[in-house]
Amino acid sequence: MSSPPPTPSPCSRLPSRSDAPCLRIGLAANRLHHDAPDAALFRLIREIEPAVRGPLRPTLLAVGRTHDAIRREGLLEGYQGLVRYPYGRAGGLMRLVSRVVDPDPAGAIHAAIYLIDPVDPSSTFPEAVALKRQCIIHARPFLSTLLGAREWFELRAVAAGAAPNPALDPVFDFGSQAIALVAHDARKAEMIELVRAHFDFFDRFAMRVATGTTGGLLNALARELRPERQGDWVRALKSGPLGGDAQIAELLLDGACQRVLFLEDPHVARQHEADIQLLERAARTVTDQVACYGDLVTAQAWIADVGAREAARRSRPAKPPR
Ligand code: PGA
Repeated sequence: MSSPPPTPSPCSRLPSRSDAPCLRIGLAANRLHHDAPDAALFRLIREIEPAVRGPLRPTLLAVGRTHDAIRREGLLEGYQGLVRYPYGRAGGLMRLVSRVVDPDPAGAIHAAIYLIDPVDPSSTFPEAVALKRQCIIHARPFLSTLLGAREWFELRAVAAGAAPNPALDPVFDFGSQAIALVAHDARKAEMIELVRAHFDFFDRFAMRVATGTTGGLLNALARELRPERQGDWVRALKSGPLGGDAQIAELLLDGACQRVLFLEDPHVARQHEADIQLLERAARTVTDQVACYGDLVTAQAWIADVGAREAARRSRPAKPPR
């Protein structure tokens, strides 16, 4: 008689309310982001500390200098889940890459937060590039900007039963924001199906921009779904290899675009790799203002979690100030 299949560990998927303590997160920040009391890392930790100590109770695997900076600043004091990984020089970030692909669900991380300073040379080291690449391959959020990390924590906290933080409502005010939509050739069908399935969600943005070919496909989709509409649904820029990524990068730097959904194909060499990295570096330059999503599963989870937060917001309206 064959034995019953093993029950999957709750740690093998993104935890929700009942198994929140399983959440494991890799954490690193370049020096710029922990060199002053109001640096991005500290602003993030101060904001998420109640959720960390409350409903989420994650294990935070923090590479050496990032860990030490959190302790030095007196944050997360006594919190047992803050685990020190080695210094970058001693392989801390390299080990985090291995946690992304770890086949042991109790060892794998569910997300990597790496607050990047684009002009810090270590942000371009192979382990830094590999961390993002493996996150995309294994569908783990790779959060390299402050806005992305803040938003992700808020959505995880709400999924774990916390009340939405009203201070973050502007982050979710998509009607005042623009989103960039980019898909490499192998991912274009995924992009179209994602937008088809969630057209109303993407339609809420004040503006949509896209690289040329992706944009052409999305405009064709919009004409199919909303034939009564006049004009282009998305502003199609140049094709990625011809400079579209660079055009989007400038919109990010100008504060004219707050979100990037970039479905990357990590399995092929791209002749315009520099342009792709330029776009990412622009997002990190304005780390407070831009959030990026790099794979379909993470994007789907984002959309679903935003919906859950909106439902929670409706059932628990913010208290008026006293
Ligand atoms: P495309 O560009 O939408 O024009 O194909 C995407 C990219 O390769 O960056």
